[in-house]
Order: sequence, then C-alpha cells, then structure tokens
Amino acid sequence: MSRIRRNFSNRIFQILSSPLRMEILRLLRLNRSLTYSEIMDKLGLEPTKHAGKFAYHLRSLVKARLIERSSEDKTYRLTDLGTRALEFAQEINEYILKRAGKLLVRSSRMAIEEFDRFRIVESLVKEAQVPLELAEAISLEVEKKLTALQVKYLTAPLIREIVNAVLVEKGLEDYRHRLTRLGLPVYDVTKTFEKASLMKLNVEDIKKMAGEAVLREYTLLSVLPRDIADAYLSGELHFEFLGSWILRPDVIQHDIRLMLTGKFQGIPAKTPKTLTSALNRLRIILYDSSFEVNVDQGLDMFNVFLSPYVKGKRISDVRRSLRIFLESLRVYSNVTVNLGLDIGFSKAVAELKVQGVGDGAYGDYEDDSLVLTEALVSVLKREFKRSPIQNLSLTVKLRTGHSKGRWPDVFKEIHELVKLGIPVLMVNMTDVHGNIGFSSHGLRFEPFSDWEAETLAVPMIAGVCINTPRLAYMSRGDDERFWENIRRNLDRALEAFRIRREAIDQRIKEGLLPTLSLPEEPYLRFEAMFSALGLIGLNEAAVLHTGSDLLNPSVQATMLKLLRRIRSYIEEFGERIGLTSICGEEGPSRLLNLDLNNYGRPVLNGQAFRKEPYYTDACIVPLERAVRLQKRLELEESIGTIMNGGSLPVIEVDPDVDAEILFRTTLAVIARYRQLRSFTYSMLITYCRRCSRVFPGYRSRCPRCRGITTIAQYGRTPLRFQPLHRWPPVKRVNIARRKVYGVRDLRSIATV
Ligand SMILES: [Zn+2]
Repeated sequence: MSRIRRNFSNRIFQILSSPLRMEILRLLRLNRSLTYSEIMDKLGLEPTKHAGKFAYHLRSLVKARLIERSSEDKTYRLTDLGTRALEFAQEINEYILKRAGKLLVRSSRMAIEEFDRFRIVESLVKEAQVPLELAEAISLEVEKKLTALQVKYLTAPLIREIVNAVLVEKGLEDYRHRLTRLGLPVYDVTKTFEKASLMKLNVEDIKKMAGEAVLREYTLLSVLPRDIADAYLSGELHFEFLGSWILRPDVIQHDIRLMLTGKFQGIPAKTPKTLTSALNRLRIILYDSSFEVNVDQGLDMFNVFLSPYVKGKRISDVRRSLRIFLESLRVYSNVTVNLGLDIGFSKAVAELKVQGVGDGAYGDYEDDSLVLTEALVSVLKREFKRSPIQNLSLTVKLRTGHSKGRWPDVFKEIHELVKLGIPVLMVNMTDVHGNIGFSSHGLRFEPFSDWEAETLAVPMIAGVCINTPRLAYMSRGDDERFWENIRRNLDRALEAFRIRREAIDQRIKEGLLPTLSLPEEPYLRFEAMFSALGLIGLNEAAVLHTGSDLLNPSVQATMLKLLRRIRSYIEEFGERIGLTSICGEEGPSRLLNLDLNNYGRPVLNGQAFRKEPYYTDACIVPLERAVRLQKRLELEESIGTIMNGGSLPVIEVDPDVDAEILFRTTLAVIARYRQLRSFTYSMLITYCRRCSRVFPGYRSRCPRCRGITTIAQYGRTPLRFQPLHRWPPVKRVNIARRKVYGVRDLRSIATV
C-alpha cells in the first residue's frame, strides 16, 4: 500500500472517531440529500453559536470524500465511500456491544442502540399509569425474556409486544389496554385502496377510512366499558359511524333564523339584506358545519324562514339566487342537506315573529313562501335533470287543512321531482300543532313540551342498535326470556348513549365543534340532544321468535306487545330518547354475518326472498317481500306508531308511473293511513354524463347516445340516494328483488 493511500485510510478512521461527524453521515443516509442549514437544524445546532464548529466538521467530511456537495442545488449527500464507512463503523459498534452481552435495539432505520430497561419503566408509568415499583418488576421480567429470545435485532414494536405479554400473564389487562398501539394491519390498508377504487372514491376518502379505523378501535378500547364493547364485538349491539362516534353528532336541525342573525366563527356578523346574500350565508355555514356532523343537516322550514326575503322580488331573480345556492351544494358530498318545505302554514308557525329582514309574523308572508317554493321546485327540476345532486334531499310537510289556494298545485309539482329520483320524504303534519323535525332518512325529532326549542337548532345521535334477531334466536320462543335479553341490551344501549353524549360535550369544551358550538357561544342546543335507539331486523326477529313473519296478525300482536314494553322502559330514562327502525348501512350485514358464524344456517330463517341475506333496516316490511301495497302500508303504520324516533316506509315504484298518479297516491296514503307520519318513494334513475340527462329506470346504456361508460344509475339504499356503485354490496345484489309497485297497485289505493 502506498503512503498516500495509507494516510488516506488513517484519515477516514480519524474522521469516524467524532460523534458529530458520525451523526451527519447517519442523517444523510436517512435523508439522501440535505442543505447546509437543514443539517444544522436536524442536529439541533444554533446557527449563531455553532456555525464555525459545524462548518469545520462538514468540510473535513467533504475533504475525506465521505460526502459531496452538489453544485446544482447546493445539497450534501453521502458518497459511495461514505456509505461503506458508515456501515463499517456500525458493524464494529454492534460487534463490541454484542461481545459485551448487550441487547441491541434498532430504533430507527440506521441507529442501533443498546437496550435500556428504564425506557420500559418510563413508558409504563407515563402511558399506562403503572405504579413505579410494579413497572420496575415488569421491566426486569421483560429484559429476562428478551435475553432468552436471542433475536438478532430487537425493535420497538417487538419490545412492546413482549411488555404486553407480560402484562397479560400477570393479569394486568387494564394496563395492557392503555399501552395498545392502534392501527391497521398492512393487509387491511392495502384492501382499503381496492375498496375505495371500487366505490369510485378519492384519495382523501382513503385517509378518512384509515383514520376512522383507528378511532373505532380507540372507542372500543378506551371509551366504552368492557361489557358494552364486548356486546358490540360479539354482535348483540351495533354502533354505526363508530369511527366518528366520539367526535360529533349524526344529524342536526339548523335554525335558519339563527343562521342569519347569529354569530359564527369567520363570518361577518351583519344580517344579510337580500335573498342572494342570505343564501350565501347559509351555504358557508352549511359547508363549515358539514365537518361537524356525520350524515345529515336539515334546513327546516326553508320556505317559511326565507319568505320575507322574497317579498317584492321578481320570480326570475328568486330563481337565480336559488340556482347558485343549489349548485354550491355539489361542492361536498358526504353530508346530506335536507331542505324542509311546509305546504300550508299551521297557526303556530304563522304566528312566529319574523327575525332578520322584514317585520310582522311569518304568516304575513305566506304568498311569498308559495312563490319561493314554486321557484325552488322549478329550479330543482332543471338542475337535477342536467345532473343529479347526490347530497340533497327534501322533506315536504303537508297540512291538509291549511294548504289552500295554490299550495295543492305546488305539492303536485313536487311529484315531478320524485320522478327525477330526488329523495323526497312525505310527512303528514295535519294534526301537528307546531313542528316535528325529520332527517332525510326519516329519523324524527318529536318534541315533548316546547316544539320550537326542541325541533330547531338541535342535534341528534343515532346508530346505537340492538340485534333483535340474535336475541330472539337465543330466547328459543320464550317471551319472557326474549324480553330479558332485550332489557339487558337496552341498559347497555342507554349507557352507550350517555357515554357518547359525554364525549361530544368534551369536544365542545375543547372547542373542536366551532361552527355548531363554541364553548362560550353555543349555537345548537346540545343540552336538548335527541337519541334514536335502533331495533334492527324486527321482521327477522319475529320469524325466529314465532316461526312466522310480521304479516301474520297474531305475530304482529306479539311483537307490538314487546315493542310497547320496550318503549315504556326507555321512556323512564328520559324524554328525548326515541325508538327507531333506522340503523345504518353497515349494521344489517355485519350483524347477520356474525350470527351466521355463531349459530349457523338456522338464523337465515326469514331471508328466503333475498339473494344475499341482510337484516331488515329502516322500514318494517322488507323491500323484497312481495306483498300488496295496502298490507305493506297497514303494517308500516301499526308498528310505526310505536317508533317515536322514526321509521322509513318505502314505496318502490315502477319508473313508468307518472307524477299525476304519484300525487294522487300521496293524498290517498295521507287520508287513509292517518297514523303513518312519513313515507317515501324510491325509484331508480339513469344519468348520462355526456347527454347531461336523467332517464327513468335502470338502463345499462344511454337511450339517447347509446353510451355505456358515460352513465351511472342512482337510487335509494333506502337510507341514502346514491349511485349504485356506492351502495352496500348486499343491498345492490338484492335490488332486482325489490317488490315494485306499478300503476295498477297505486290506483288501487288512490281510488279506495
Ligand atoms: Zn347519453
């Protein structure tokens, strides 16, 4: 070896002897290339104090050709020689430690450290609040186990697993819970990409799904008590939206008057003077609050509270303002906006004093309200024909005694919207004094004393559901045992609601729901929050309990008796807890699959009319059940009267039925089934992007341009109006089995 070369290698050893220079090499190995100031920053050096020393070390590394500086972007990177030198130095370091019998931990990609038992003690005390002495004992045991394992490299997750194993062995499971790492297995994350692609979602949705998975585990592990979490995991209970359960409510009802006059973060306090600026203000608040609610936000009495803004305006101007507003709702699609329209003013509504622009009472503006409603219907018709708005829904409240003049004509026009696929919830308000609030999918805000304070500016939590078919199956036909099983789960469900309320209250205190409720300036009345307790699969429960389904009158009587008992049981717990048949999109198949795994095929009893099984949700009579329309509505009415939290009777109609017949059917249903508070039509439509047109019915090709890739079919799941590719798979495969009612079926009701 020549002298020059020998000197060179000597110099390299000399350079590697400095800890700071080694740190620089490691940094560049991890980051590929860094600028001068980036390196300083990452080493935690201060430019004013350490610049001289740092520059010296950096220069010597360059001189020894261990790193190089690119003249192009002025960054430093490791040379091939530098990489080898670094590896060599680390190998020696490891060798020495191992010879000394030390355990090595690979803490990040490049740093190998000596195992330090006190780090375990530290994290046991800090993260899990383990008493110091116990933490010491555990860490010693962990060290013993790790030494015995003789793995080449320990990693932080492996150490954590061993710590957890020791905690379980010692029966210290509560501590173990607190140390659990939340997250998804690699396989699940990969699956998320596939799932999102099939549903035509976007990358933001993937982030959301991954985040929700972590929060779901967090809620099960550290928010809910053990027996309730177990009831969820085993499938006696179901919690919908569990991933955002502790963050925000599911449904909110806005109060347009407060939206126009109240104080909101980042929005000028001035009350708007024109319809355009009023709608613009609503749009901004709707957008902001869409992050603070899970599924649905309602603008109840839309055509009442905005009517003063219409006075003296040209209809063309009203239409233009509405068009801009509706267009803007396309911006976000996860939370439905539900516009409430009153067809006819009740005395109580007419007497409300006008707030914001205008004076007198809202009753003075009934004609303007009519103009606003007509304008809205015509704009919706045009806009929706061009392209369906996915997150828009209407709740139309009819007061037969008060809807005189041109109201019936407007109501008839609304049935043209049904023909376009727009989800419209029809509500019979004839005998209601003030108001009842509704979500787009039928959940109900039924007031107890003060209708105004209990239906406007209030939130609702739902999605706590009881698996009634499971409990029926477990009870083996014994009424009293069935009730006991249900009562046990009612207690759990009510406790779950209490915990969820507490969690949401906490979010308010933290200021994390800034639009709906700043801690010092509440907008929504969270203290008046409704809870809707779900009973999933009532029809299947009836079959498993009695051997026959709800269409059988004696079975119906048995189930009604049980439901009344449930209702009076939960009434003891508080006023604003409603009973509902509406649960969610995930529950119906999750619960059935769990039951199938636990109990085998007998639980499929009562599923014969479905292609793939799922428990009936939202409506009482399964959509796939072939039954006369009269019979369906009778049953929905009789069981629905107990469901004070709402149910969703659905009439699936033939796309050939025209708006006139639908209108007459609605009037007939309202006249004949007086206790049926609400119902909705469902109808498939096909939309062609290229033609910008909506066609009635399911089409596999555009009837106009023959396009295949340009079309999408839309329908109600029935909870949501969505393109079919977003539907839960079990509901999609069963769609052709739904009982469809044609002209003749509807006429038979309308003429009775
Ligand atoms: Zn086309």
